Parts: sequence; C-alpha cells; structure tokens
Amino acid sequence: MKTFSRDGRVPIEKLYRSYFGFDSSLWKNSVIYQQKIKYKHRPLSFDIMGFTTKRKGLALWIIAGVHGEEPAGPNALSTSVHYFNNLGKKLPMVIIPLANPSGYFRDWRYVNTRRARRNFDTHSVGDAEHIILRNGKPLREKAVCNEADTLTRFLIKSSKTHPPILILNFHEDESLRKLYLYSQGILGIKDPIANDIVHMLKRRGFIFYEKGMTRFNQPIVNGIIGNVGDGSIDEMMSSGKIFFDGNIVNKPKTKSIVVIETSTNLPLKTRVQAHREIMKRSEIFFNTARKILSN
Ligand SMILES: [Zn+2]
Repeated sequence: MKTFSRDGRVPIEKLYRSYFGFDSSLWKNSVIYQQKIKYKHRPLSFDIMGFTTKRKGLALWIIAGVHGEEPAGPNALSTSVHYFNNLGKKLPMVIIPLANPSGYFRDWRYVNTRRARRNFDTHSVGDAEHIILRNGKPLREKAVCNEADTLTRFLIKSSKTHPPILILNFHEDESLRKLYLYSQGILGIKDPIANDIVHMLKRRGFIFYEKGMTRFNQPIVNGIIGNVGDGSIDEMMSSGKIFFDGNIVNKPKTKSIVVIETSTNLPLKTRVQAHREIMKRSEIFFNTARKILSN
C-alpha cells in the first residue's frame, strides 16, 4: 500500500508513527472511527484518532486533515508532537491530527469521492448538519456518513470534559489563489487570533482578499470571513444550541474558532512550515482566547 505522493506528502504510516509519539502519560488516545476502504482490490483500515490530555478543563483544540487533499496540517502536526507534549503538561487539550486518513491516503477530499460534483451528495468528515439547528430543526435528519456521526459525538463528548475556548482547524484551499480564513467564534472578523494568523501567513507569502465577497456571498474583511452558516463542525462548536440524539441541548459556545487556509499553489514545504509556525504559537493564542473569555 502506498500513500498518494505526487505533492510530496508524508506517507501515512509515517504520520501514524509520529502521532504515537504523544506521551501516553499525558494523553488518552481514542479511536474515533475505523475507516474501511477497498484499495486495488485489497481491504484497508485506517483509524481516526483523537488525543485528549488526562488533565481536564478549559481547553485548546487542534483539528487537522478533515479534507484528504489538504496535507499541510497533518504533516505539520507530525513534526510538532514534541511541542504539544510540552504544552499538554500545561494546558488541557484535544488533538485530532488526521480526521480523514483514507482521504489523505487516496488524496480524496471526502469519504465517498475525490471531489464534489454537481448533484452529488458528498460525504464530508467535518459535516455537522444533523446537529446544527435552523428555526428549531436540524438541517439534516441523519449524519452524512459514519465519520461525521462519530466525529461529532467525540467533539460533543470532549466538550464536556475539555470545553474548548480556542479551536484551530487546519485546512487548505486549492480553488483560489487568494485566500480568506474563517473566524467562527463570537468576535468573527474582529477575532485577534484570526487577525494574527492572517499576518503570519502574509509574511510567508500567502495572498489574501482584503475585502469583497466570497462566491457564497459572504463579506471578507482583511482576509477573514466571520460566522458562516456552512453546516460544519466549526459552526456546530460555535452554536449555543444543538440537536443531539433527538433532543435540543444547550451547550457553551466556543469563543474563538479559526479555520486556517493555505493555498495549494505554493509548494507543500512552504505550507507545512506555515502551519507549523501557527501551531507553535498555540500557547500565545490560547492566552489571547482566555482574555476574550474574561472580557
Ligand atoms: Zn478544507
């Protein structure tokens, strides 16, 4: 078995090996879901793993690899395990390093298809439409796939023991040369963490939309769009009310959620370095999130 490699991404077995470097005296390792696929007539199985610190309380969450064709986040995480082991001694944390391993392996964005096609129901690991309420009803009756079902359950369960005050969700963008990132927390486009990240990425050569509208008609300000109703786990985590196992449930809103994007037209090496640089500022960002919380 061989991981898609045309873009120079790290082979998946190497990623798993580095993720097993999360120190088991600090972290609990859960298998959120086992993805089973057929690859060249052979059955393969990939674990979606979640790491939670044994220390509980207000937490920092790191999510990467929701879309399989966006390798920078999972690759950056594989070389940041030492940093997070140190940070895990100080802060409660949740890390999902590779949310869609079979997608990463095959370079498939979704669970059931490589890319979205018109009139095609795409199964995204990061979909939460069955949890998100609009006008008192969930957007969708059932989860789009088992991955979305088990991942949302894991996140909701983890938010009881490790309530996130900051979520950093590492994505990439291949459709546009210019970028914007999503700030889904209470401060939206004014979120200081989102603004810091835009500055860091600009310094690395990434180009952002300063203003204008997205193709979904959302306003962009300084490279950021705020509070998008996109049916994602990010929207779910920013919601104060969700639909869970047949009931409408109140939950705390996560104050700061930043969905990071790097454009895939730059070399993977540059993108990985950018993601790593952001990861290594996690502690500073967490302290900023604490301040947002206390204001
Ligand atoms: Zn993405």
